[in-house]
Amino acid sequence: KNMLPPVRRDRIIAQLPECFTPAAALHTKDVFHAQVKAACQGQKTGAVGFNIAKVIVVGDVAVGKTCLISRFCKDSFDKNYKATIGVDFEMERFEVLGVPFSLQLWDTAGQERFKCIASTYYRGAQAIIVVFDLSCVTSLDNARQWLEDAMKENDPSSVLLFLVGTKKDLSSPDQLAYMELEAIRLSEEIRAEYWTVSAKSGESIREFFFRVASLTFEANVLAELEKSGSRRVGDIISNTEEEYKPTKRKATCC
Ligand code: GDP
Ligand code: MG
Repeated sequence: KNMLPPVRRDRIIAQLPECFTPAAALHTKDVFHAQVKAACQGQKTGAVGFNIAKVIVVGDVAVGKTCLISRFCKDSFDKNYKATIGVDFEMERFEVLGVPFSLQLWDTAGQERFKCIASTYYRGAQAIIVVFDLSCVTSLDNARQWLEDAMKENDPSSVLLFLVGTKKDLSSPDQLAYMELEAIRLSEEIRAEYWTVSAKSGESIREFFFRVASLTFEANVLAELEKSGSRRVGDIISNTEEEYKPTKRKATCC
Protein backbone atom coordinates (compact mmCIF):
# COMPACT_ATOMS: atom_id res chain seq x y z
CA LYS A 1 0.00 0.00 0.00
CA ASN A 2 1.14 3.46 -0.83
CA MET A 3 1.09 5.03 2.62
CA LEU A 4 1.74 8.74 2.84
CA PRO A 5 3.48 10.59 5.66
CA PRO A 6 1.20 12.61 7.97
CA VAL A 7 -0.02 15.99 6.76
CA ARG A 8 2.35 18.83 7.67
CA ARG A 9 1.24 20.58 10.83
CA ASP A 10 1.08 23.90 9.02
CA ARG A 11 -1.41 22.50 6.51
CA ILE A 12 -4.14 21.80 9.02
CA ILE A 13 -7.32 23.81 8.54
CA ALA A 14 -9.74 23.82 11.46
CA GLN A 15 -11.91 26.76 10.43
CA LEU A 16 -12.79 28.62 7.26
CA PRO A 17 -9.99 31.09 6.48
CA GLU A 18 -10.97 34.69 5.75
CA CYS A 19 -11.46 36.02 2.25
CA PHE A 20 -9.16 38.71 0.88
CA THR A 21 -11.85 41.36 0.87
CA PRO A 22 -15.58 40.95 1.41
CA ALA A 23 -16.14 43.29 -1.55
CA ALA A 24 -14.76 40.61 -3.84
CA ALA A 25 -15.92 37.38 -2.28
CA LEU A 26 -19.05 35.46 -3.12
CA HIS A 27 -18.43 33.30 -0.10
CA THR A 28 -18.58 35.92 2.58
CA LYS A 29 -19.79 33.55 5.25
CA ASP A 30 -17.12 33.09 7.87
CA VAL A 31 -17.72 29.52 8.96
CA PHE A 32 -17.90 26.14 7.26
CA HIS A 33 -21.35 24.87 6.32
CA ALA A 34 -22.94 23.11 9.33
CA GLN A 35 -23.67 19.99 7.30
CA VAL A 36 -20.05 19.78 6.22
CA LYS A 37 -18.83 20.05 9.80
CA ALA A 38 -21.27 17.37 10.90
CA ALA A 39 -20.20 15.05 8.10
CA CYS A 40 -16.56 15.46 8.98
CA GLN A 41 -17.16 14.64 12.61
CA GLY A 42 -18.61 11.32 11.48
CA GLN A 43 -16.81 8.09 10.95
CA LYS A 44 -13.94 8.38 8.47
CA THR A 45 -14.48 5.29 6.39
CA GLY A 46 -16.07 4.61 3.05
CA ALA A 47 -15.09 4.56 -0.56
CA VAL A 48 -16.06 7.80 -2.24
CA GLY A 49 -13.23 9.83 -3.67
CA PHE A 50 -13.88 13.45 -2.98
CA ASN A 51 -10.68 14.25 -1.19
CA ILE A 52 -8.66 15.32 -4.17
CA ALA A 53 -9.58 18.46 -6.08
CA LYS A 54 -8.14 19.41 -9.42
CA VAL A 55 -7.25 23.09 -9.56
CA ILE A 56 -6.04 24.68 -12.77
CA VAL A 57 -4.02 27.86 -13.03
CA VAL A 58 -4.40 29.94 -16.18
CA GLY A 59 -3.35 33.37 -17.41
CA ASP A 60 -0.97 35.10 -19.82
CA VAL A 61 2.62 33.97 -20.20
CA ALA A 62 4.91 35.41 -17.49
CA VAL A 63 2.16 36.75 -15.22
CA GLY A 64 3.58 34.58 -12.44
CA LYS A 65 1.60 31.32 -12.46
CA THR A 66 4.57 29.04 -11.81
CA CYS A 67 5.96 31.35 -9.12
CA LEU A 68 2.58 31.47 -7.38
CA ILE A 69 2.48 27.68 -7.12
CA SER A 70 6.17 27.35 -6.17
CA ARG A 71 5.92 29.93 -3.44
CA PHE A 72 3.18 27.95 -1.78
CA CYS A 73 4.34 24.38 -2.45
CA LYS A 74 8.08 24.84 -2.06
CA ASP A 75 8.20 28.15 -0.22
CA SER A 76 10.70 29.42 -2.74
CA PHE A 77 10.92 32.20 -5.30
CA ASP A 78 13.10 32.07 -8.38
CA LYS A 79 13.59 35.40 -10.09
CA ASN A 80 14.97 33.77 -13.22
CA TYR A 81 12.22 33.07 -15.68
CA LYS A 82 11.91 29.47 -16.77
CA ALA A 83 9.24 28.75 -19.34
CA THR A 84 6.93 26.00 -18.22
CA ILE A 85 7.03 23.12 -20.68
CA GLY A 86 3.74 21.38 -21.34
CA VAL A 87 1.74 20.56 -18.27
CA ASP A 88 2.80 19.80 -14.77
CA PHE A 89 1.04 19.44 -11.46
CA GLU A 90 1.90 19.67 -7.80
CA MET A 91 0.06 17.73 -5.14
CA GLU A 92 -0.44 19.71 -1.98
CA ARG A 93 -1.79 17.92 1.05
CA PHE A 94 -4.05 19.42 3.71
CA GLU A 95 -6.18 18.30 6.56
CA VAL A 96 -9.53 20.08 6.58
CA LEU A 97 -11.84 19.58 9.56
CA GLY A 98 -9.86 16.47 10.39
CA VAL A 99 -10.20 14.96 6.92
CA PRO A 100 -7.25 14.46 4.55
CA PHE A 101 -7.64 16.59 1.43
CA SER A 102 -5.31 17.31 -1.49
CA LEU A 103 -5.16 20.01 -4.08
CA GLN A 104 -3.79 18.93 -7.42
CA LEU A 105 -2.41 22.22 -8.73
CA TRP A 106 -2.03 22.19 -12.51
CA ASP A 107 0.45 24.59 -14.01
CA THR A 108 0.81 25.15 -17.71
CA ALA A 109 2.67 26.94 -20.44
CA GLY A 110 0.89 29.41 -22.70
CA GLN A 111 -1.81 27.40 -24.37
CA GLU A 112 -1.13 28.98 -27.73
CA ARG A 113 1.84 26.64 -28.08
CA PHE A 114 0.12 23.68 -26.50
CA LYS A 115 -3.40 23.83 -27.90
CA CYS A 116 -3.68 20.07 -28.25
CA ILE A 117 -3.32 19.42 -24.55
CA ALA A 118 -5.48 22.33 -23.44
CA SER A 119 -8.70 20.36 -23.15
CA THR A 120 -7.07 17.61 -21.06
CA TYR A 121 -5.60 20.27 -18.88
CA TYR A 122 -8.88 22.09 -18.37
CA ARG A 123 -11.19 19.10 -17.99
CA GLY A 124 -12.66 18.20 -14.62
CA ALA A 125 -11.39 21.18 -12.67
CA GLN A 126 -13.05 21.90 -9.34
CA ALA A 127 -11.45 25.32 -9.16
CA ILE A 128 -9.99 27.67 -11.73
CA ILE A 129 -7.41 30.25 -10.73
CA VAL A 130 -7.10 33.04 -13.28
CA VAL A 131 -3.85 34.90 -12.71
CA PHE A 132 -2.93 38.37 -13.94
CA ASP A 133 0.03 40.65 -13.32
CA LEU A 134 -0.92 43.72 -11.26
CA SER A 135 1.69 45.71 -13.14
CA CYS A 136 0.32 44.79 -16.57
CA VAL A 137 -3.14 46.01 -17.61
CA THR A 138 -3.38 43.76 -20.66
CA SER A 139 -2.99 40.65 -18.52
CA LEU A 140 -6.16 41.66 -16.68
CA ASP A 141 -7.92 42.38 -19.97
CA ASN A 142 -7.01 38.86 -21.09
CA ALA A 143 -8.26 37.22 -17.89
CA ARG A 144 -11.81 36.96 -19.22
CA GLN A 145 -10.64 35.05 -22.30
CA TRP A 146 -8.62 32.61 -20.20
CA LEU A 147 -11.67 31.97 -18.09
CA GLU A 148 -13.88 31.42 -21.13
CA ASP A 149 -11.44 28.88 -22.57
CA ALA A 150 -11.20 27.01 -19.28
CA MET A 151 -14.97 27.02 -18.80
CA LYS A 152 -15.62 25.32 -22.12
CA GLU A 153 -14.41 22.07 -20.59
CA ASN A 154 -16.16 22.45 -17.27
CA ASP A 155 -19.55 22.64 -15.63
CA PRO A 156 -20.10 26.30 -14.69
CA SER A 157 -22.42 25.36 -11.82
CA SER A 158 -19.83 23.33 -9.96
CA VAL A 159 -16.58 25.17 -10.56
CA LEU A 160 -15.15 27.71 -8.10
CA LEU A 161 -13.40 30.70 -9.61
CA PHE A 162 -10.56 32.77 -8.25
CA LEU A 163 -9.06 35.87 -9.82
CA VAL A 164 -5.55 36.56 -8.56
CA GLY A 165 -3.50 39.68 -9.13
CA THR A 166 0.14 38.93 -8.43
CA LYS A 167 3.49 40.82 -8.28
CA LYS A 168 2.01 43.22 -5.74
CA ASP A 169 5.56 44.14 -4.77
CA LEU A 170 6.09 45.80 -8.16
CA SER A 171 3.12 48.16 -7.98
CA SER A 172 2.96 51.70 -6.69
CA PRO A 173 0.04 52.38 -4.33
CA ASP A 174 -1.81 54.31 -7.07
CA GLN A 175 -1.34 51.62 -9.67
CA LEU A 176 -2.40 48.98 -7.17
CA ALA A 177 -5.56 50.87 -6.22
CA TYR A 178 -6.54 51.24 -9.87
CA MET A 179 -5.88 47.58 -10.74
CA GLU A 180 -7.68 46.28 -7.67
CA LEU A 181 -10.73 48.33 -8.50
CA GLU A 182 -10.83 46.97 -12.04
CA ALA A 183 -10.15 43.44 -10.89
CA ILE A 184 -12.87 43.49 -8.25
CA ARG A 185 -15.28 44.75 -10.88
CA LEU A 186 -14.33 41.82 -13.14
CA SER A 187 -14.49 39.31 -10.30
CA GLU A 188 -18.08 40.36 -9.56
CA GLU A 189 -18.97 39.96 -13.19
CA ILE A 190 -17.45 36.51 -13.62
CA ARG A 191 -18.45 35.46 -10.08
CA ALA A 192 -14.91 34.84 -8.92
CA GLU A 193 -13.30 35.54 -5.59
CA TYR A 194 -10.55 38.16 -5.89
CA TRP A 195 -7.07 38.09 -4.27
CA THR A 196 -4.00 40.35 -4.43
CA VAL A 197 -0.72 38.51 -3.72
CA SER A 198 3.03 38.56 -4.25
CA ALA A 199 5.00 35.40 -4.89
CA LYS A 200 8.20 37.35 -4.32
CA SER A 201 7.40 38.60 -0.82
CA GLY A 202 5.03 35.73 -0.11
CA GLU A 203 2.26 38.15 0.87
CA SER A 204 -1.17 36.47 1.12
CA ILE A 205 -0.01 33.32 -0.69
CA ARG A 206 -0.68 30.94 2.15
CA GLU A 207 -3.99 32.63 3.01
CA PHE A 208 -5.05 32.36 -0.61
CA PHE A 209 -4.32 28.64 -1.02
CA PHE A 210 -5.88 27.84 2.34
CA ARG A 211 -9.01 29.58 1.14
CA VAL A 212 -8.95 27.60 -2.13
CA ALA A 213 -8.47 24.34 -0.25
CA SER A 214 -11.26 25.12 2.21
CA LEU A 215 -13.81 26.20 -0.37
CA THR A 216 -13.14 23.31 -2.75
CA PHE A 217 -13.25 20.86 0.14
CA GLU A 218 -16.56 22.28 1.32
CA ALA A 219 -18.02 22.17 -2.18
CA ASN A 220 -16.89 18.55 -2.62
CA VAL A 221 -18.40 17.42 0.67
CA LEU A 222 -21.68 19.20 -0.08
CA ALA A 223 -21.82 17.62 -3.52
CA GLU A 224 -21.21 14.20 -2.02
CA LEU A 225 -23.86 14.75 0.64
CA GLU A 226 -26.33 15.67 -2.06
CA LYS A 227 -25.44 12.63 -4.13
CA SER A 228 -25.54 10.19 -1.26
CA GLY A 229 -28.92 11.51 -0.10
CA SER A 230 -30.08 9.49 2.86
CA ARG A 231 -26.88 7.47 3.22
CA ARG A 232 -25.10 7.72 6.53
CA VAL A 233 -22.87 10.77 6.45
CA GLY A 234 -20.00 8.75 7.89
CA ASP A 235 -19.96 6.60 4.76
CA ILE A 236 -18.98 9.44 2.53
CA ILE A 237 -15.85 10.40 4.39
CA SER A 238 -13.21 8.24 2.85
CA ASN A 239 -9.49 8.10 2.83
CA THR A 240 -8.73 7.56 -0.82
CA GLU A 241 -5.35 9.19 -0.34
CA GLU A 242 -3.98 5.78 0.50
CA GLU A 243 -4.88 4.69 -2.99
CA TYR A 244 -3.53 7.48 -5.08
CA LYS A 245 -0.07 7.28 -6.49
CA PRO A 246 1.79 10.53 -5.96
CA THR A 247 3.68 10.37 -9.22
CA LYS A 248 4.30 13.50 -11.22
CA ARG A 249 3.20 13.47 -14.81
CA LYS A 250 4.71 15.43 -17.64
CA ALA A 251 2.74 15.76 -20.82
CA THR A 252 4.49 16.48 -24.04
CA CYS A 253 2.77 18.14 -26.92
CA CYS A 254 1.92 17.35 -30.52
P1 GDP B 1 4.32 32.13 -15.76
O1 GDP B 1 4.75 32.15 -17.19
O2 GDP B 1 2.95 32.71 -15.59
O3 GDP B 1 4.45 30.79 -15.12
O4 GDP B 1 5.29 33.15 -14.98
P2 GDP B 1 6.43 32.82 -13.93
O5 GDP B 1 5.87 32.33 -12.65
O6 GDP B 1 7.45 31.97 -14.54
O7 GDP B 1 7.00 34.29 -13.65
C1 GDP B 1 7.37 35.14 -14.71
C2 GDP B 1 8.36 36.17 -14.23
O8 GDP B 1 7.76 37.03 -13.25
C3 GDP B 1 9.60 35.57 -13.55
O9 GDP B 1 10.74 36.27 -13.96
C4 GDP B 1 9.35 35.77 -12.09
O10 GDP B 1 10.55 35.90 -11.37
C5 GDP B 1 8.51 37.04 -12.06
N1 GDP B 1 7.57 37.04 -10.94
C6 GDP B 1 6.62 36.12 -10.66
N2 GDP B 1 5.93 36.43 -9.55
C7 GDP B 1 6.45 37.60 -9.10
C8 GDP B 1 6.17 38.46 -7.98
O11 GDP B 1 5.29 38.22 -7.15
N3 GDP B 1 6.92 39.60 -7.88
C9 GDP B 1 7.91 39.90 -8.77
N4 GDP B 1 8.59 41.03 -8.58
N5 GDP B 1 8.20 39.14 -9.83
C10 GDP B 1 7.49 37.99 -10.01
MG1 MG C 1 5.03 28.97 -15.96
